[in-house]
Amino acid sequence: MADEQNRPSHHTLSNPDNLALFKRCVSYFLPYKAHIVVATVFMVLGGLCDAGIAWLVKPALDDIFINKQTTALLLIPVAYLVVTTLKAGAKLLQNYLMQLAGMRVLEVLRDEMYNKIIMMPIRFYEGAQVGMLMSRITNDVTSIRNSLPALVMLVRQIISLVSLACVVFYQNWKLAFWAVIVLPLAFFPFIYFGRRMRKLSRKGNVMVADITSLLQEVLSGIRVVKAFSAEQKERARFDRENRRLLRLSMKSILAGEFSSSVMEIVGALGVGIVIWIGGMQVIDGESTPGTFFSFVTALVLMYDPVKKLSNSNLNIQAALAGAERVFGILDDENLGVEKGGDRPMEASFRELRFERVRFAYPDGTLALDDVSFTIRAGERLAIVGPSGAGKTTFVNLIPRFYDPQAGTISINGHGLEEYDLKSLRGLISMVSQDNFLFNLSVAENITYGLSDVDESRIVEAAKAAYAHGFIAVMPEGYGAIVGERGVKLSGGQKQRLTIARALVKDAPLLILDEATSALDSESERVVQKALENLMKDRTSIVIAHRLSTVIGADRILVMDSGKIVAQGRHEELLDASPLYARLYEMQFSVEASAGKGEGA
Ligand code: ADP
Repeated sequence: MADEQNRPSHHTLSNPDNLALFKRCVSYFLPYKAHIVVATVFMVLGGLCDAGIAWLVKPALDDIFINKQTTALLLIPVAYLVVTTLKAGAKLLQNYLMQLAGMRVLEVLRDEMYNKIIMMPIRFYEGAQVGMLMSRITNDVTSIRNSLPALVMLVRQIISLVSLACVVFYQNWKLAFWAVIVLPLAFFPFIYFGRRMRKLSRKGNVMVADITSLLQEVLSGIRVVKAFSAEQKERARFDRENRRLLRLSMKSILAGEFSSSVMEIVGALGVGIVIWIGGMQVIDGESTPGTFFSFVTALVLMYDPVKKLSNSNLNIQAALAGAERVFGILDDENLGVEKGGDRPMEASFRELRFERVRFAYPDGTLALDDVSFTIRAGERLAIVGPSGAGKTTFVNLIPRFYDPQAGTISINGHGLEEYDLKSLRGLISMVSQDNFLFNLSVAENITYGLSDVDESRIVEAAKAAYAHGFIAVMPEGYGAIVGERGVKLSGGQKQRLTIARALVKDAPLLILDEATSALDSESERVVQKALENLMKDRTSIVIAHRLSTVIGADRILVMDSGKIVAQGRHEELLDASPLYARLYEMQFSVEASAGKGEGA
């Protein structure tokens, strides 16, 4: 990741691809062209003011200090004040308008990226990709905002430079000639050290990222580190990285210091030459002190635009590198929008059928192999199997989080792909073990994804989910914000909120992933009762971890290595399926003998 971000860029506008990329960036600024035109006008004005200030030095010296004219004594300070005010005002307005346009572009691009990303099929949100997508939205988009302003700044520096150069040559072309020879000499170390610093800082960023991930790894695995008494080893590892970073930082600091020292010496050389020749001209009466100092002022003022010129170039390069990545996502046809059919779902659910379904994950893991089964309205189906058997994958195919590579899945006789996605997913309630709650109020979490839900229905659902009790005692009740910004809920309470969410949704087909994480037996019993309420009058498919669930099921599917290896009722399977018998021994009988007897 860090590597990719810090890859040296070869983005110059002379490359036709980059020019196209840049034009694309600029197209985002088009709606704000009035802002940009006005900003540019102010910018030209600001650039001319630079030259004006340098030019004013001549009458200041010659008329006031040497010829002692009193009118000039009044006029020139006022003129100086006016020009400087003009320059400051122009700069302020220019920057404000530019930033405003930039921020608007940023807003639009962020929205576009977010819209693209949130519409993608689930398989794109796996693992490492999520970090990449986040960095696209938060970092890369920002660099595009700087694209056009960086170019405009470039133009501004050039205007300043050219107008200052005019003053320089106008005041003293002979001396200007010498300055022109010395200046490139000063540029040389500037360019050399600049390049070196950039390389070092790129390496530095990678190293900082490495150290951060090392830190993260060790801190999140601290229990393992301590359990294995590996503190000394981890200290050595960190120490090594730390020292490498130190060496690199020192190199970069040294390069910076060297560059400024060399610049100073070269500068002094230039100034020495200029004073020598200029002084000679003044002494010979060929030139006046005013002309000389006006010349020097213009020369000194040129330093700033020269420095910024190289920054503009860097900014444009960074903008293009970011733009490439952002548009890479926006244009990627493979990162498509999830597509469904046009068939609306019938209000009533009759039957769900898997026929010879085969599914492998993008990395090649075969998770479902030749799976066939049918569930009819009102049935209660339990799925059991060892971890990795394919149970989660199996249920994730029903709302089309993934599509099978072979075989068909159909509801009420029509393939899932025929149905409109929204209405297909409206048919299904999924309650899974991760109990995801948003940083919203309790009521908003319960009605998530639905609009205009009566308060009475929310309360009713919360009551059936055994959640009303703990909600009602919170000071803000249903308005309390859940999670980071608000109340922390226990595992059982979170589960009951997600059950209330499913109750409000009131979908006919229920997919339930029973928690493996142990709740204390009291909350476990309450959650169980809430689930019973949820399953009442619904067709349900339950990934079962509780004895009561398998015993109460109309049918149990036993899965192993992506296949359904047996199905039937509890008693039948105990005899017919050795795997089931073994699972029962390991998972369920403990519960039975522990005597909790969850309503069995
Ligand atoms: P279960 O729910 O029965 O534990 P899963 O459906 O989660 O099983 O997993 C079935 C198989 O698919 C396992 O071999 C698992 O490693 C693999 N698998 C699950 N999710 C992914 C994924 N996102 N990418 C690749 N392989 C996966």
